[in-house]
Amino acid sequence: MTAKLLNPGPVTLSERVRASLLGPDLCHREPEFAELQGEIRRRLCQVYPSDGYDAVLVAGSGTAAVEAMVGSLVPWDGRALVAVNGVYGERIAAILRLQGKTVDVAKSDVLAPIDLAAVEAQLGRARYSHVIAVHHETTTGRLNDVPALGALCRRFGVPLLLDGVSSFGGEAVDLAGWNVEAIAATANKCLHGVPGLSFVLVRRSAFAKRDSAATSLYLDLYRHHADQERGGTAFTQPVHVCHALCEALRELEDGGGWQARQARYRRLSTWVFGALAARGVKPLLAIAEPSSAALTAYRLPAGRSYADLHDAMKAAGFVIYAGQGALAQAIFRVAVMGSLDDDDVARFVAALDRHWAE
Ligand SMILES: *Cc1c(COP(=O)(O)O)cnc(C)c1O
Repeated sequence: MTAKLLNPGPVTLSERVRASLLGPDLCHREPEFAELQGEIRRRLCQVYPSDGYDAVLVAGSGTAAVEAMVGSLVPWDGRALVAVNGVYGERIAAILRLQGKTVDVAKSDVLAPIDLAAVEAQLGRARYSHVIAVHHETTTGRLNDVPALGALCRRFGVPLLLDGVSSFGGEAVDLAGWNVEAIAATANKCLHGVPGLSFVLVRRSAFAKRDSAATSLYLDLYRHHADQERGGTAFTQPVHVCHALCEALRELEDGGGWQARQARYRRLSTWVFGALAARGVKPLLAIAEPSSAALTAYRLPAGRSYADLHDAMKAAGFVIYAGQGALAQAIFRVAVMGSLDDDDVARFVAALDRHWAE
């Protein structure tokens, strides 16, 4: 029996999505592929109200989409402000530095919310072309207060670029309301597709307003957008991964869209949370603070090792996830993305119970 994945992507596939991987072999220059790509792009813009936005597909994992987004959109003569409160925010700043773009960071502690006062002070001090932030900071499971950040950006007339890699499809996203110029995400987290394909939803006007600032030939969103709008593709697409994402998007719609998925994640996360609380295991974030529906981080109790917990869960058929960065030794994370039924969660909770009783 293969283990059920309780890591934040790649996820356990539904049988429906798995079967779609055996879809027809297609040449990426033929009309059959253009049709598939067109359906994916259309469906990506239907997950949330996306009037005025176009989906641009990028081969690669979520980081490829983030790199394409900031590389192509932050102008060479611009200045980006990254709000950082975790590993993925740090990664965005690191990408911009490698690209040679001008970047400032408003950093808060990994356990704290985004420092909105610091962002506001920075926005008052210098002229920024973009504010950039992570929606769901997977490092801690915190769902950042993007509505408040977006309102701040709107007040200063600065567009927001979002890393929505671990929230797209499983949390509320208000592109127009949050002043979002672009959001980057991936096939294989809350959308329940296969790893290998990522995408950026971009405000169409951004393509008309200025030239590409791309730092990479392969990750140039402007080029991909122009080619995909014509029904083509600049480079070879992962055809079977595209079949899977298309089927996963149909499945999301059939199941009631992001709202139903978020509600299901929340129910499963609350179930696991309750079982751990009964054993005295504490969440990393205070309960009143907003964790995402999809992932919760827990403190490892004193005297317990992550390796023991991981191995016991794996033996019971579940892969959990370690902490990252400064939290690597202190926490473990449980994600409920992917095709999990209630019976899976009941077995997981029973296995946790056995482990903690030892
Ligand atoms: C998973 C993730 C990414 C991208 O990771 P990949 O391994 O490249 O898919 C980026 N940002 C966040 C917030 C993530 O959770």
